Amino acid sequence: MRNTYLIVAEHRDGKLRRVTLEALRAAAACAAGEDEIHAALLGEGLDDLAAELAAYPVAQVHVIESESLRNYNPEAYVQALAPLLASLRPDGLFLGHTAAGRDLAPALAARLSAGQISDVTGIEREDDGRIVFVRPIYAGKAIERRVFGSAPRVVTVRPNNFLAAEPREDGTAAPIARSAAASASELRTVVRDVVRKTAGRIDLAEAKIVISGGRGVKSAEGFRPLEELAELLGGAVGASRGACDAGYCDYGLQIGQTGKVVTPEIYIACGISGAIQHLAGMSGSRIIVAINKDPEAPIFQLADYGIVGDLFEVVPLLTQEFRKALA
Ligand SMILES: Cc1cc2nc3c(=O)[nH]c(=O)nc-3n(C[C@H](O)[C@H](O)[C@H](O)COP(=O)(O)OP(=O)(O)OC[C@H]3O[C@@H](n4cnc5c(N)ncnc54)[C@H](O)[C@@H]3O)c2cc1C
Repeated sequence: MRNTYLIVAEHRDGKLRRVTLEALRAAAACAAGEDEIHAALLGEGLDDLAAELAAYPVAQVHVIESESLRNYNPEAYVQALAPLLASLRPDGLFLGHTAAGRDLAPALAARLSAGQISDVTGIEREDDGRIVFVRPIYAGKAIERRVFGSAPRVVTVRPNNFLAAEPREDGTAAPIARSAAASASELRTVVRDVVRKTAGRIDLAEAKIVISGGRGVKSAEGFRPLEELAELLGGAVGASRGACDAGYCDYGLQIGQTGKVVTPEIYIACGISGAIQHLAGMSGSRIIVAINKDPEAPIFQLADYGIVGDLFEVVPLLTQEFRKALA
């Protein structure tokens, strides 16, 4: 029996988000034999993105265009995807575990009467062919292995945990099917505009390097050395809730149980004590560096590298040394 999987692509500023290619890799891990992976691309003015996506190993790219899809809107997205879901009848749906993916996946699961497994970090195939979805639970303290009882299945994939899919080796492109979605006047809510608070900065969820500040940065001004280091290394700045609550930075930067989950190659925690709720958002980072003036700070128990010292001395020194090394 041939299974059909559907990836719901995400894009921002005219670029595909890497998590879409990671979701494609995750779907490929479930696919076997004659199984097909399709991709849905929603928005407006999508010609270039559709051509880019068609270069990856998908059976077809389904482009759904409408002014109402310019910005993410759950109602518009669910409505727009409904005809495709009805015709394709996918056995599995894959989305990024991003703000939009977390919102859209349960709505699509409800429409399909499907089960959902969220925040998946690994996929394993057992000897009997069953596919096991691996996900961290209890703020990363335990790992859960789940299987679906029946199809259809809805899966959200945690960013930075799967390798991004590679374009087809033979340079061919998948066919592109186009359709139009409902006009904005038929929707109950309309997103008029999205104003980004962190314009121009690297997306925290996808950053390879994250420099995070905690209450130890002591002020908004105290984030400057961290921003300087992040800029030099091409990384993003994050924060603990302690720093956000103190008003040193925007809540959009918060990492942790009630903030964003990041899994960068390198996570540098500056003036962060290492509360369990913070660790829930960053313990999956490949290399963790902690800078804290308290040698007993719990963050050192998790860190691969620890620097006991004043962050206002250590961070500028790191910037200085990296600048020399990168010159
Ligand atoms: C339901 C719930 C959800 C939560 N969700 C989150 C969440 O999502 N994310 C999150 O982060 N927290 C969350 N918290 C809060 C969490 O429990 C901690 O209070 C918070 O993480 C502490 O932030 P912090 O480490 O910046 O501050 P603190 O615990 O005050 O630590 C500051 C650290 O800075 C060090 N320091 C001070 N000055 C310097 C200096 N000059 N140089 C170097 N080090 C210095 C200190 O030694 C200390 O270790 C949550 C709490 C609850 C109850």
